[in-house]
Amino acid sequence: MTELFYDKSVTCIACGQAFKTKRMRVNSVRIEKVDGDFCPHYTAENPLYYDVNVCPHCKLAFTDNFSPLSLANKERLTQGYLHKIQVHDLCGERTWQDALRSYELALVTSQLVNEKMLMQANLALRIAWLYRYEHRSADEQRFLRIAVDLYVKMYQEQNYDTEVMPDAKLMYIIAELFGRLKEWNKTKVWFSHLFTDQTADAKWRARGRDRWLEFKAMIKEETEDPDGYAGT
Ligand SMILES: [Zn+2]
Repeated sequence: MTELFYDKSVTCIACGQAFKTKRMRVNSVRIEKVDGDFCPHYTAENPLYYDVNVCPHCKLAFTDNFSPLSLANKERLTQGYLHKIQVHDLCGERTWQDALRSYELALVTSQLVNEKMLMQANLALRIAWLYRYEHRSADEQRFLRIAVDLYVKMYQEQNYDTEVMPDAKLMYIIAELFGRLKEWNKTKVWFSHLFTDQTADAKWRARGRDRWLEFKAMIKEETEDPDGYAGT
Protein backbone atom coordinates (compact mmCIF):
# COMPACT_ATOMS: atom_id res chain seq x y z
CA MET A 1 0.00 0.00 0.00
CA THR A 2 2.69 2.45 0.93
CA GLU A 3 3.94 2.93 -2.64
CA LEU A 4 0.59 4.50 -3.50
CA PHE A 5 1.65 7.52 -1.50
CA TYR A 6 4.57 9.86 -1.13
CA ASP A 7 5.34 12.59 1.38
CA LYS A 8 5.06 16.05 -0.06
CA SER A 9 6.89 18.90 1.64
CA VAL A 10 4.65 21.88 2.20
CA THR A 11 5.19 25.25 3.85
CA CYS A 12 2.23 26.57 5.80
CA ILE A 13 0.85 29.83 4.42
CA ALA A 14 -0.11 31.02 7.92
CA CYS A 15 2.68 30.03 10.34
CA GLY A 16 5.44 29.55 7.75
CA GLN A 17 6.52 26.19 9.19
CA ALA A 18 7.36 23.24 6.95
CA PHE A 19 5.69 19.86 7.20
CA LYS A 20 5.19 16.70 5.20
CA THR A 21 1.78 15.48 4.08
CA LYS A 22 0.65 12.45 2.07
CA ARG A 23 -0.17 12.65 -1.61
CA MET A 24 -1.08 9.86 -4.02
CA ARG A 25 1.20 9.04 -6.90
CA VAL A 26 -0.44 9.96 -10.21
CA ASN A 27 0.39 6.61 -11.80
CA SER A 28 -1.37 4.73 -9.00
CA VAL A 29 -4.71 6.43 -9.70
CA ARG A 30 -7.41 4.56 -11.62
CA ILE A 31 -10.51 6.44 -12.76
CA GLU A 32 -13.65 4.38 -13.28
CA LYS A 33 -15.92 7.19 -14.51
CA VAL A 34 -16.42 10.95 -14.31
CA ASP A 35 -19.82 12.53 -13.62
CA GLY A 36 -21.26 15.49 -15.52
CA ASP A 37 -20.00 17.89 -12.85
CA PHE A 38 -16.45 16.44 -13.19
CA CYS A 39 -16.73 14.30 -10.04
CA PRO A 40 -14.24 11.48 -10.56
CA HIS A 41 -14.94 7.97 -9.32
CA TYR A 42 -11.88 5.88 -8.61
CA THR A 43 -11.54 2.13 -8.56
CA ALA A 44 -9.44 2.20 -5.39
CA GLU A 45 -7.84 4.92 -3.29
CA ASN A 46 -9.09 8.45 -3.93
CA PRO A 47 -6.41 11.10 -4.56
CA LEU A 48 -8.93 13.90 -3.86
CA TYR A 49 -8.72 12.95 -0.21
CA TYR A 50 -5.23 14.47 -0.17
CA ASP A 51 -5.64 17.80 -1.96
CA VAL A 52 -6.05 19.81 1.23
CA ASN A 53 -3.00 20.47 3.40
CA VAL A 54 -3.70 20.69 7.13
CA CYS A 55 -0.77 22.22 8.98
CA PRO A 56 0.14 20.09 12.03
CA HIS A 57 1.65 23.16 13.72
CA CYS A 58 -1.10 25.80 13.54
CA LYS A 59 -3.94 23.62 12.09
CA LEU A 60 -4.65 25.82 9.08
CA ALA A 61 -6.27 23.95 6.17
CA PHE A 62 -5.43 25.17 2.66
CA THR A 63 -4.67 23.84 -0.81
CA ASP A 64 -1.64 24.40 -3.01
CA ASN A 65 -3.72 26.91 -5.01
CA PHE A 66 -4.52 29.25 -2.13
CA SER A 67 -3.25 32.80 -2.56
CA PRO A 68 -0.52 33.99 -0.18
CA LEU A 69 -2.05 35.41 3.00
CA SER A 70 -1.90 39.10 3.80
CA LEU A 71 -0.38 40.02 7.15
CA ALA A 72 -3.82 41.10 8.39
CA ASN A 73 -5.33 37.73 7.44
CA LYS A 74 -2.46 35.82 9.05
CA GLU A 75 -2.96 37.73 12.29
CA ARG A 76 -6.70 37.26 12.17
CA LEU A 77 -6.32 33.51 11.70
CA THR A 78 -3.54 32.91 14.20
CA GLN A 79 -4.99 35.14 16.93
CA GLY A 80 -8.61 34.03 16.63
CA TYR A 81 -9.92 31.18 14.53
CA LEU A 82 -6.99 28.76 14.76
CA HIS A 83 -7.11 28.77 18.58
CA LYS A 84 -10.66 27.54 18.47
CA ILE A 85 -10.54 24.64 16.05
CA GLN A 86 -9.94 21.07 17.10
CA VAL A 87 -8.36 18.78 14.56
CA HIS A 88 -6.17 15.71 14.80
CA ASP A 89 -3.13 15.18 12.62
CA LEU A 90 -4.28 14.85 9.00
CA CYS A 91 -0.86 14.46 7.36
CA GLY A 92 -1.02 10.65 7.06
CA GLU A 93 -3.32 8.34 5.16
CA ARG A 94 -6.87 9.66 5.32
CA THR A 95 -10.24 8.07 5.80
CA TRP A 96 -13.35 9.51 4.18
CA GLN A 97 -14.08 11.32 7.47
CA ASP A 98 -10.55 12.78 7.49
CA ALA A 99 -10.98 13.99 3.92
CA LEU A 100 -14.33 15.57 4.71
CA ARG A 101 -12.88 17.32 7.76
CA SER A 102 -9.93 18.67 5.74
CA TYR A 103 -12.22 20.05 3.01
CA GLU A 104 -14.66 21.55 5.52
CA LEU A 105 -11.77 23.34 7.22
CA ALA A 106 -10.33 24.51 3.88
CA LEU A 107 -13.73 25.93 2.90
CA VAL A 108 -13.89 27.84 6.19
CA THR A 109 -10.34 29.15 5.65
CA SER A 110 -11.24 30.25 2.12
CA GLN A 111 -14.27 32.15 3.44
CA LEU A 112 -12.37 33.76 6.32
CA VAL A 113 -9.54 35.05 4.14
CA ASN A 114 -11.83 36.02 1.26
CA GLU A 115 -10.22 33.63 -1.22
CA LYS A 116 -11.39 33.85 -4.80
CA MET A 117 -15.01 32.77 -5.27
CA LEU A 118 -13.81 30.08 -7.68
CA MET A 119 -11.74 28.51 -4.90
CA GLN A 120 -14.64 28.62 -2.46
CA ALA A 121 -17.04 27.16 -5.04
CA ASN A 122 -14.63 24.38 -6.01
CA LEU A 123 -14.13 23.40 -2.37
CA ALA A 124 -17.90 23.30 -1.78
CA LEU A 125 -18.28 21.17 -4.92
CA ARG A 126 -15.67 18.72 -3.67
CA ILE A 127 -17.46 18.39 -0.36
CA ALA A 128 -20.63 17.59 -2.35
CA TRP A 129 -18.67 14.88 -4.21
CA LEU A 130 -17.46 13.38 -0.93
CA TYR A 131 -21.07 13.08 0.20
CA ARG A 132 -22.00 11.60 -3.19
CA TYR A 133 -19.42 8.83 -2.70
CA GLU A 134 -21.26 7.95 0.52
CA HIS A 135 -24.74 8.31 -1.04
CA ARG A 136 -25.67 11.06 1.43
CA SER A 137 -27.90 12.91 -0.95
CA ALA A 138 -29.28 15.65 1.34
CA ASP A 139 -25.76 16.67 2.40
CA GLU A 140 -24.56 16.48 -1.19
CA GLN A 141 -27.37 18.78 -2.32
CA ARG A 142 -26.61 21.26 0.46
CA PHE A 143 -23.07 21.70 -0.82
CA LEU A 144 -24.07 21.66 -4.50
CA ARG A 145 -26.30 24.61 -3.60
CA ILE A 146 -23.43 26.50 -1.94
CA ALA A 147 -21.24 25.81 -4.98
CA VAL A 148 -23.77 26.82 -7.62
CA ASP A 149 -24.69 30.03 -5.78
CA LEU A 150 -21.01 31.00 -5.82
CA TYR A 151 -20.56 30.08 -9.50
CA VAL A 152 -23.63 32.17 -10.42
CA LYS A 153 -22.36 35.12 -8.35
CA MET A 154 -18.97 34.87 -10.06
CA TYR A 155 -20.62 34.88 -13.45
CA GLN A 156 -22.93 37.79 -12.65
CA GLU A 157 -20.11 39.87 -11.22
CA GLN A 158 -17.68 38.71 -13.93
CA ASN A 159 -15.35 38.05 -11.03
CA TYR A 160 -13.11 35.25 -12.31
CA ASP A 161 -10.10 34.59 -14.45
CA THR A 162 -11.25 33.23 -17.83
CA GLU A 163 -7.85 31.61 -18.32
CA VAL A 164 -8.63 29.37 -15.36
CA MET A 165 -12.40 29.15 -15.81
CA PRO A 166 -13.57 29.87 -19.39
CA ASP A 167 -17.07 31.39 -19.65
CA ALA A 168 -18.43 28.34 -21.46
CA LYS A 169 -17.18 25.95 -18.79
CA LEU A 170 -18.70 28.14 -16.08
CA MET A 171 -22.10 28.24 -17.83
CA TYR A 172 -21.88 24.48 -18.31
CA ILE A 173 -21.15 23.75 -14.64
CA ILE A 174 -23.92 26.11 -13.44
CA ALA A 175 -26.46 24.38 -15.73
CA GLU A 176 -25.19 20.97 -14.64
CA LEU A 177 -25.47 21.76 -10.93
CA PHE A 178 -28.97 23.21 -11.30
CA GLY A 179 -29.84 19.97 -13.10
CA ARG A 180 -28.51 17.95 -10.19
CA LEU A 181 -30.60 20.12 -7.86
CA LYS A 182 -33.58 19.45 -10.14
CA GLU A 183 -34.21 23.13 -10.68
CA TRP A 184 -35.33 22.51 -14.21
CA ASN A 185 -36.13 26.08 -15.25
CA LYS A 186 -32.69 27.28 -14.22
CA THR A 187 -31.08 24.24 -15.86
CA LYS A 188 -32.80 25.12 -19.11
CA VAL A 189 -31.92 28.81 -18.89
CA TRP A 190 -28.22 28.18 -18.24
CA PHE A 191 -27.86 25.55 -20.97
CA SER A 192 -29.63 28.01 -23.24
CA HIS A 193 -27.05 30.71 -22.33
CA LEU A 194 -24.35 28.23 -23.27
CA PHE A 195 -25.93 27.13 -26.55
CA THR A 196 -26.62 30.66 -27.77
CA ASP A 197 -23.22 32.11 -26.85
CA GLN A 198 -21.43 32.26 -30.19
CA THR A 199 -18.07 32.70 -28.48
CA ALA A 200 -18.50 29.56 -26.35
CA ASP A 201 -16.02 26.78 -26.97
CA ALA A 202 -17.62 24.06 -29.14
CA LYS A 203 -16.38 21.41 -26.72
CA TRP A 204 -18.49 22.80 -23.85
CA ARG A 205 -21.53 23.35 -26.06
CA ALA A 206 -21.36 19.75 -27.29
CA ARG A 207 -20.94 18.45 -23.78
CA GLY A 208 -23.83 20.64 -22.64
CA ARG A 209 -26.08 19.26 -25.39
CA ASP A 210 -25.36 15.70 -24.29
CA ARG A 211 -26.15 16.54 -20.68
CA TRP A 212 -29.27 18.54 -21.58
CA LEU A 213 -30.61 15.48 -23.43
CA GLU A 214 -30.02 13.39 -20.32
CA PHE A 215 -31.68 15.96 -18.07
CA LYS A 216 -34.63 16.26 -20.46
CA ALA A 217 -35.17 12.52 -20.16
CA MET A 218 -35.18 12.90 -16.36
CA ILE A 219 -37.61 15.82 -16.58
CA LYS A 220 -39.88 13.78 -18.82
CA GLU A 221 -39.96 11.01 -16.26
CA GLU A 222 -40.69 13.40 -13.40
CA THR A 223 -43.17 15.85 -14.82
CA GLU A 224 -46.68 15.28 -16.03
CA ASP A 225 -46.40 17.82 -18.81
CA PRO A 226 -42.86 17.76 -20.09
CA ASP A 227 -43.62 19.34 -23.46
CA GLY A 228 -42.38 22.75 -22.43
CA TYR A 229 -38.97 21.24 -21.80
CA ALA A 230 -38.76 18.16 -23.97
CA GLY A 231 -39.81 20.08 -27.06
CA THR A 232 -36.89 22.49 -26.75
ZN1 LIG B 1 0.76 26.43 10.04
